Amino acid sequence: MREPKKNIIPIVEDRVAGSQVMHPLRRLSQYSTLLILILIPMTGLFRIDPVDGAFVILGYQVWFSDIFLVMGFWIFFASLLVLMYSLVGAVFCGWACPQNTVSEWANALTKKLLGRQANMMDMSGKQMRIASRRASWLNYVVLSLAILAVSMVYALIPLLYFYPPDVILSFILFQSDDRLAGSLHWIYFVCVVIMVLDIAVIRHLMCKYMCIYRVWQHSFKTRDTLHIAYDASRSDHCLNCSYCVDHCFLDIDPKQSEVFDSCVNCGECIVACDELHAKSKKMAGPGLLRFALGDAQKERYRGAIGTFFGRAKTVTLFTLFGLMLFVIGIVNYSPASYSVYRSEAWQGDSIVEYRVNLANKLYRPVVMSIEVQGLADDYYTLDTREVHFDSTGRQDVALHLNPEMPKGIHRFQVLVTTESGWSGSFAVAHYANGGKHDR
Ligand code: SF4
Ligand code: SF4
Repeated sequence: MREPKKNIIPIVEDRVAGSQVMHPLRRLSQYSTLLILILIPMTGLFRIDPVDGAFVILGYQVWFSDIFLVMGFWIFFASLLVLMYSLVGAVFCGWACPQNTVSEWANALTKKLLGRQANMMDMSGKQMRIASRRASWLNYVVLSLAILAVSMVYALIPLLYFYPPDVILSFILFQSDDRLAGSLHWIYFVCVVIMVLDIAVIRHLMCKYMCIYRVWQHSFKTRDTLHIAYDASRSDHCLNCSYCVDHCFLDIDPKQSEVFDSCVNCGECIVACDELHAKSKKMAGPGLLRFALGDAQKERYRGAIGTFFGRAKTVTLFTLFGLMLFVIGIVNYSPASYSVYRSEAWQGDSIVEYRVNLANKLYRPVVMSIEVQGLADDYYTLDTREVHFDSTGRQDVALHLNPEMPKGIHRFQVLVTTESGWSGSFAVAHYANGGKHDR
């Protein structure tokens, strides 16, 4: 017997494409940023050496005089940032900024432990209201300890950029280490206190009223920049609803987004409206909010892709220029440096001593060999022909010249080589007065 034909009712889920994954994606982006900020110095990718006053990239010291590397990197990085501000606005704040991440985490934990109305500080003057069934001392203790623990980790991150990981470990374990600054525990203590204040009280007030970087990012915004678009044709859905505004930590009404509002494109309002529509039986269709790129009001609207390439042209040139300088800097990078200069030792009116100043830019043991070419052996002596470095640093080697050298100009070369194959030479023109003592 044939089975009766079933009526298949198609299930159509009207949601804004991608909004279901937007919130988890944003969380992933926020926590990945924190992880990257910790991994960058820990893996040696980038650090600052305050003792030598240099940057450290993958164990190589980069001096300010490595002009192609320094300039190339900053032009490349700065132009990429400008490109980002102009295309997607202050998206860094919403998707990556550690201040926003920790503020959202603190808000969520406070709500969980003390109730939905437990805002720590509100400029509107609203009182902090603790849910009566959650007002237990245990909840306060858990919240306080969690804030302290996160503050201690946050305050440690900047230190990672100034000390190698093994020194930081000595610092955490209270072990003595000559490389640690004497007052570091005090500096760290002050940083922890500031972070506790920030996480416990300030939170998003920093984003709303104090952050200069957010203002800087907004200065590159135009009508073409990524923004929240509102479907006004279905505005009847919004009667008696403020779900999107309630979800905006900057208290913006996304239905009336402006070029110069402080929206950071976090997308939480889109997710909120979309969820509302997905749950509601009365509201048909997807949510009313979505991300939009480009100005649809323009006469020649080129669409999102056209807008992207139109705006990226000029800045991309700078990005490529910076990248080119950076590559030239890498190719010409010198892992050692040296110079030869006159010492204060004189014999009459003639110099009889030079100093060879050697610098190692690698954070590992290096042996440098010195050789003098173009001068007879009995005309000079070197204090040493081999200099050993345990790590980065500078050392001076004296080059003594024989005061009885024949009168005249003697041209010679000072050659320095390392076992890794690096070599350099320095030309010296020395005037000898033939042993006369005029002074
Ligand atoms: S959440 Fe959606 S429906 Fe509600 S006010 Fe905002 S845009 Fe309108
Ligand atoms: S308006 Fe929407 S996208 Fe902009 S900050 Fe508020 S919640 Fe985020």
